[in-house]
Amino acid sequence: MNVVIVGAGCFGAWTAHHLVGSGCSVTLLDAYGAANRRASSGGETRLIRMGYGAEEIYTRWSRQSLRLWKSLFERTDPTLFRETGVLWMARDRDPLTTATLATLAREGIAHERLSRAELESRWPQIDFGLLTWAVYEPGSGVLLARQAVATLVRDAEGQGVVSVHAAVRRPLGRGRLDAVTTQTGETIAADTFVFACGAWLPRLFPTLLQDRIVPSRQEVLYFGPSAGDRRFGSPALPAWIDFGEEVYGVPDLGGQGFKIAFDRHGPVFDPDAGDRVAGETVPAIRDYLGRRFPDLCDAPLIASEVCQYENTSNGDFLIDRHPELENVWLVGGGSGHGFKHGPAVGEYVARLVTDGGASDQRFRLAAKERVQRRTVY
Ligand SMILES: Cc1cc2nc3c(=O)[nH]c(=O)nc-3n(C[C@H](O)[C@H](O)[C@H](O)COP(=O)(O)OP(=O)(O)OC[C@H]3O[C@@H](n4cnc5c(N)ncnc54)[C@H](O)[C@@H]3O)c2cc1C
Repeated sequence: MNVVIVGAGCFGAWTAHHLVGSGCSVTLLDAYGAANRRASSGGETRLIRMGYGAEEIYTRWSRQSLRLWKSLFERTDPTLFRETGVLWMARDRDPLTTATLATLAREGIAHERLSRAELESRWPQIDFGLLTWAVYEPGSGVLLARQAVATLVRDAEGQGVVSVHAAVRRPLGRGRLDAVTTQTGETIAADTFVFACGAWLPRLFPTLLQDRIVPSRQEVLYFGPSAGDRRFGSPALPAWIDFGEEVYGVPDLGGQGFKIAFDRHGPVFDPDAGDRVAGETVPAIRDYLGRRFPDLCDAPLIASEVCQYENTSNGDFLIDRHPELENVWLVGGGSGHGFKHGPAVGEYVARLVTDGGASDQRFRLAAKERVQRRTVY
């Protein structure tokens, strides 16, 4: 079977990897090249954690994905996963972290429940304020995202995937799609097409996906600890999530800075034309730093990124057949948490493409509403 995949982000590249492994001929196209800076997968780092509240499917996919990421890195570059651990900081009444605790226990995933006293003694550089307990996942950590996708695509090319740097035009018609057309007028035929175009999906399929996938502007800030201060780097500090304040962070890895960002949807963003200079969130993040990491409150901002989430109404991914083009699959809606799941998503999509069938209800187009009501984090 010949398959064309449009989009060499995390979802498209892993789909290519699994499809070539099952004997398909695969062409992987990207408008700006794999792991480009505009792609959601083009950020420096992404968390991989197992906790997902009561959403067990994502916990299982995360575990399966970490296994597959590690297997890729064992044969390519073992430095692309950092086992920093992930700390979920919680307040007294915290339904999400309480549900996470139960799911991790049920799934047999290594974790610790830490009291306030344990937190203070392990991480004195954090001011826990109103936080009273936490869940710690020692085996989770940080993926070096941009480099990981570039490595994955090189690896897939080694197995026969053909990468093409080209932008695909909006596909038209009904029934079956015979070929995609690039911006230069070249046509590429295939039996099946997978569109894994992240925040660009609504541009390619406006009638179907306008307002069903909403790109939001997300700032990521990197602050520099003082010279010689190792308290804000790994291994002194894990990656962490402060769900109550919608903030998360990654410890300084190799002098790249202490990463911190809001996990709260920013304004709607144009992934092609939007400028990517951060600044809007700096005052609010500094205020947070002053409370939670007081010794970083005056730290210099040494780098920043602007990236976009591609949000579905509730945070569930979109994985479905196009309703009018029977050999076209739509894959995306990573909604700020998709990167870690690339391996499992790719495996799932590859199985649908080769074996047929339908995706789970939660991933279908019909489940995507046009009003944002986030339930998956
Ligand atoms: C700031 C930020 C922090 C995040 N943190 C985390 C995290 O900690 N953990 C986590 O798991 N996830 C996280 N995510 C989410 C995660 O990064 C995304 O869900 C995931 O990368 C989406 O991958 P994708 O392959 O769907 O899209 P993308 O990576 O955007 O890839 C889509 C690709 O399609 C290409 N394309 C688009 N249109 C065309 C066209 N017409 N022709 C050819 N190519 C085209 C683009 O160039 C692009 O390369 C975060 C996202 C952001 C923005």
